[in-house]
Amino acid sequence: MKKQVIILGSTGSIGRQALEVIANHPEEFTVYGLTANRNSQILIEQAKKFKPKYVVIAQDEEYLKVKAGLAGTGVEVLAGFQSVIDLAGQPVDRLLVSLVGAAGIKPTIAGIEAGSPIALANKESLVAAGSVVMELSRKKGVPILPVDSEHSAIFQCLQASPKALKSIWLTASGGPFRTTPKEELGKVRPEDALKHPNWDMGAKITIDSATLVNKGLEVIEAHLLFQVPYDHIKVLVHPGSIVHSLVEFTDGSVLAQLGWPDMRLPIQYALTYPERLQTHLEPLDLLEVGRLEFEAPDTERFPGLKLAFEAGKAGGTMPAVYNAANEVAVQHFLRNELPFTGIPSVIADVMSRHSVVSNPDLEEILRYDAWARAEAERTVAAR
Ligand code: MG
Repeated sequence: MKKQVIILGSTGSIGRQALEVIANHPEEFTVYGLTANRNSQILIEQAKKFKPKYVVIAQDEEYLKVKAGLAGTGVEVLAGFQSVIDLAGQPVDRLLVSLVGAAGIKPTIAGIEAGSPIALANKESLVAAGSVVMELSRKKGVPILPVDSEHSAIFQCLQASPKALKSIWLTASGGPFRTTPKEELGKVRPEDALKHPNWDMGAKITIDSATLVNKGLEVIEAHLLFQVPYDHIKVLVHPGSIVHSLVEFTDGSVLAQLGWPDMRLPIQYALTYPERLQTHLEPLDLLEVGRLEFEAPDTERFPGLKLAFEAGKAGGTMPAVYNAANEVAVQHFLRNELPFTGIPSVIADVMSRHSVVSNPDLEEILRYDAWARAEAERTVAAR
């Protein structure tokens, strides 16, 4: 029996690499559904190649183009974000959620409700709605399989003794401005921030990597996925991105997962877990790597990381506010409307105006997500 897979966000970086993984293992996987936001051309090409039962284009104005492009193929074409959520609610063997931002919340919940194991590449949905998502996954007995390279590393290290986990060491490349002096950070431009030294990713996550907000989101993600207190989650800057993260067990033993920085490996593991399949990736050569270097993160130059710990420890609705303010600030930075250093200050400003609601339900989370977006817009406009 082939595994049926739905990919939400199939035209993005993770989605395209997931289809590469699937193309390498035609005996293992079949594609049931693909969704894209607005990239109709790539969606049409993917659907012709992988012949899913359904495709969804979220932006309605692209519907006719996709419909015409797939005429006669037997692929059913749907449009609109509600159709993305509906498709996510179809039970399959893996639902890969690789949407960007808090837009992933409702589809992820629909997938868990349907009982589909979730391959989660959308950290924002977990950060914003973590308590709701994790509680539902436990109630339904549906696994959340991390695609994020760090969390995949931790998940892999934990396989033998999950109960003996004491601390997590999340590694971070440090991004393109790891050695940039503080006074120059205010002048860096989007095109500089989009040049990530090790990973080739979408624009939003690349900016998040440059501000270390990505690592901050990952700290909260790790807390939720592995139920480790924040004081036991440490961040290590590791410029080579060879060690993808480490776990420390109660007996003091430390395990790490290593590999060249290539997302196809964690994507494949989330699709094949608990099995492992061959890949065509270049094997790791530690003699070529030579040395592994580590340093402490500089939270003075990159306050976004410290703010994530504060948001996580505050709990309740605060991680959703942290995430939403960041999403808005990043969009303004990408349009040259906000300096790079304005990103963490917008997050800090919005967080300082929020009174935490503990144990929020989904409705409250979405309400404060919207509130934080509006506050972040106001903060940017007032600068
Ligand atoms: Mg990551």
